[in-house]
Amino acid sequence: MIVMKFGGSSVADAERIKHVASIIQAYENERPLVILSAMGDTTDHLLEAADLAVNGKVDISKVEKLHLDTARILDVDVPAIEELLGELKTLLTGISMLHELSKRSRDYLVSFGERMSVRLMSAYLNKQNIPAKFYDAWDVGFVSDSNFMNAELLPEVWKNIPEKLAAYKNGGQKEIPIVTGFIAKDKNGVITTLGRGGSDLSATMLGAALGVDEIQTWKDVDGILTTDPRIVKNARPVPEVTYEEAQELAMFGSQVLHPRSMIPCRKTGTPVRVKNSYNIKSEGSVIREKHSGKTPRVLAITNVKNVDLIDIQSNSMFGACGFLAHVFNQFLKWNVVVDVIATSEVSVSLTVNGNSKLDGLVEDLKKAADVTVKKEKAIVTIICDASSSSSILADAFAALKKENINVQMISQGASKVNISFLVDNSQANTVVQILHTALFE
Ligand code: ASP
Ligand code: MG
Repeated sequence: MIVMKFGGSSVADAERIKHVASIIQAYENERPLVILSAMGDTTDHLLEAADLAVNGKVDISKVEKLHLDTARILDVDVPAIEELLGELKTLLTGISMLHELSKRSRDYLVSFGERMSVRLMSAYLNKQNIPAKFYDAWDVGFVSDSNFMNAELLPEVWKNIPEKLAAYKNGGQKEIPIVTGFIAKDKNGVITTLGRGGSDLSATMLGAALGVDEIQTWKDVDGILTTDPRIVKNARPVPEVTYEEAQELAMFGSQVLHPRSMIPCRKTGTPVRVKNSYNIKSEGSVIREKHSGKTPRVLAITNVKNVDLIDIQSNSMFGACGFLAHVFNQFLKWNVVVDVIATSEVSVSLTVNGNSKLDGLVEDLKKAADVTVKKEKAIVTIICDASSSSSILADAFAALKKENINVQMISQGASKVNISFLVDNSQANTVVQILHTALFE
């Protein structure tokens, strides 16, 4: 058995749905289970519709048109789609009257995207004589906590999924399960979502719980690339990365897989393969526990733009204990997530997402230290075998020096697979290009 996951852009319109159906058919003998995202930008459109509704306006024309047009072009009759659209309108009308939208209602609202896409896909597959059956995630055992918009799957999922899908697992059921990604229900039966990009987690959870041979996530590029191909034309596929490296890649801006999605497959050691839907024959990249051969010196270069650098200096830090504890307590208090950090005896520098709200935090930090915030920075990260870090750093700095680039902070992750540099936003792409040339070309 395998799990095949297709994201929003892979099912963005009728043509793409047909194409995905042909890929599923090509793997029919491997007994696939399919996880789907919402079509195209549907999740964003639903969130926009929600904001409009809070301001009193009900408009789902974009979402409605896309799904009805698609059903028409695929020539499938899906009464369930009209029913769901009706329910969605009722919900938006309610929101527009209350002028209020809780996280819980927001999850209910965005769940319609995934619920519609599995119904369309399953109807189309059946029409092509490929037996398929759609499921909402909760019908195959996806239960989560009630942390709406970012829910965590509960441990019983491991037991639920094989139970609910026993018939398919043991060969009794012929219909290929087409399951919604991204959504679940909590113990009270209320719909939740697993956070943006959460269908990756749905896919790895499904595959790990069933003990499948391979979990495939299908993209529009040849697997995981050495860097963002929009920045470096010569970016090339990386055949193999470890779970840990994949997690680092995702944390530092590469659009590989949601970092949280590595957790279930890592537990069971189930390999995840990133495949190109436009080049089915290509092997893609495989993510597994260990490299099958020698660990490559450098794997990839990623970048995250729009981060803020917070520089905290205090003479009272010198030789004192508890200063860092104090600093981190303030971050905890203000709920600000730290990404990269570097410290010296009298200072600590940290980066945070540029959208973080910092006013209260900075005010509190200033009570005990000098604080400066520098905006519009970027983190460029080299994912590498850190046992070669000296030679990698030597090559990297030699190349950057030649181009007169000054690095503002550097940090080597303790997970031993990443080295991060902080530079200005405006220089980030150039730095990625210089490093790619120096380390790969
Ligand atoms: N549709 C959801 C999103 O756009 C989940 C996903 O695509 O993974 O975030
Ligand atoms: Mg999506």
